[in-house]
Amino acid sequence: MADIIRLTAAELSEKLGSREISAVEATQAHLDRIADVDTDVHAFLHVSDSALDTARSIDERRASGEELGPLAGIPLAVKDVLVTTDMPSTSGSRILEGYMSPFDATVVKRSREAGLVLIGKTNMDEFAMGSSTEHSAYGPTRNPWDLGRIPGGSGGGSAAAVAAFEAPLALGSDTGGSIRQPAHVTGTVGVKPTYGAVSRYGAIALASSLDQVGPVTRTVLDAGLLQDVIGGHDPFDSTSLTDIWPSMADAAREGARGDVLKGLKVGVVRELSGEGFQAGVQSRFDETVALLQKQGAEVLEVSAPHFEYAVSAYYLILPAEASSNLAKFDSVRFGMRVQPEGGGTVEQVMAATREAGFGPEVKRRIILGTYALSAGYYDAYYGSAQKVRTLIQRDFDAAFAQVDVLISPSAPTTAFKFGEKLEDPMAMYLNDIATIPANLAGIPGISVPIGLAPEDGLPVGLQIMAPVREDARLYRVGAAIEALLEAQWGSTLISRAPALGGK
Ligand code: GLN
Repeated sequence: MADIIRLTAAELSEKLGSREISAVEATQAHLDRIADVDTDVHAFLHVSDSALDTARSIDERRASGEELGPLAGIPLAVKDVLVTTDMPSTSGSRILEGYMSPFDATVVKRSREAGLVLIGKTNMDEFAMGSSTEHSAYGPTRNPWDLGRIPGGSGGGSAAAVAAFEAPLALGSDTGGSIRQPAHVTGTVGVKPTYGAVSRYGAIALASSLDQVGPVTRTVLDAGLLQDVIGGHDPFDSTSLTDIWPSMADAAREGARGDVLKGLKVGVVRELSGEGFQAGVQSRFDETVALLQKQGAEVLEVSAPHFEYAVSAYYLILPAEASSNLAKFDSVRFGMRVQPEGGGTVEQVMAATREAGFGPEVKRRIILGTYALSAGYYDAYYGSAQKVRTLIQRDFDAAFAQVDVLISPSAPTTAFKFGEKLEDPMAMYLNDIATIPANLAGIPGISVPIGLAPEDGLPVGLQIMAPVREDARLYRVGAAIEALLEAQWGSTLISRAPALGGK
């Protein structure tokens, strides 16, 4: 039964449907795997103690002839930014240690209703601020490809859990790349849906105009199956789109089968290459472009001149929104409370709590955001950043007038070593140069593994971006590229993951 953990969710779904495997067996296999490797990987902050009970009830329902959805009985890991009633939700922060939510996030509720088995909560940078999980208050997650390296961030836990075969499916959140960049460095698939396509209700907010919840998986089809479960209108989220969405899983199946690359207009973003991009990342990317051309895709270079300012604009808009969102952690309403010695006023208790409860990166961003929003500076900083945001949206509009999809490497480098960028926030921030523009424009993006960088043998991801609401196009094209590369290698990239001492 050791092989259960190597199955994709789609494969597992078939075996569950035909009763070859039970949900209890599937869940037990993943719990065993977690027990086996998670002391090394540390993808999980909390492992569910009710997962087997849930699995048992799914098996009973199936046995009684109930018609269940395709993902019923499949284990799901959930980023700790999403609130759950049966496990603590900390968002990687000390200030929320042990916090139990009175309700489930909509995506969690929908996952449970679809019969998914919540197996645990995954590690993340505190309040989703970071690109390495080194900012988690509970210690970093390690990259299953090389335990001395970062698994990306902020959703390093979800990506590592999936890459280490601790869960076939996971949920993440992406404000500036926290699903796609971890996917890139762990050889997994990560999708940031169109803003508003998936509910944010119950996702502990970082920057509300940028945050988006999405799937973390090992294949494009699996991501599509998961987005079909979590997506769609939610009246509890005022920014949720009321669109009726096509099935993303069907789009992925179509892509894997069909001839979607022929005649596809693909734009290579000029600004997302060259300086700062690792040679091996660039060469894998270039090879993929050549492969696309061979399949009949029409590849052209497009320029997005304002991408140059994306990271700067993001680091004004994000801290501004974050400083406001994090004001609710005031020692009264949620989580921890610290009494200063000898007592104190409400303000002193609040200050002592926030001093003890927040880590350095969170404090840095609160200070930045509060400053950017302060009376005399609002127009100069926040106002200018919003204008840049509009210019970036226009760059995308102009690009998508010429091409069907845009592509770039998902991040400039492969997984870096622990500590390498910790003392230099700018270096850390620049890691998201390729992913941030999509958040600023609200468009969807996917990261698909395209091979290993020759110089370090670590995974590289291809980012594909589509116009707003065209998520299905990403799944179609992503699955087509995945199938193409699989045919070339004779296996999926992830199945060749060498790490964890051969475990
Ligand atoms: N790494 C980026 C940041 O630190 C993105 C975070 C995210 O997407 N949640 O803000």
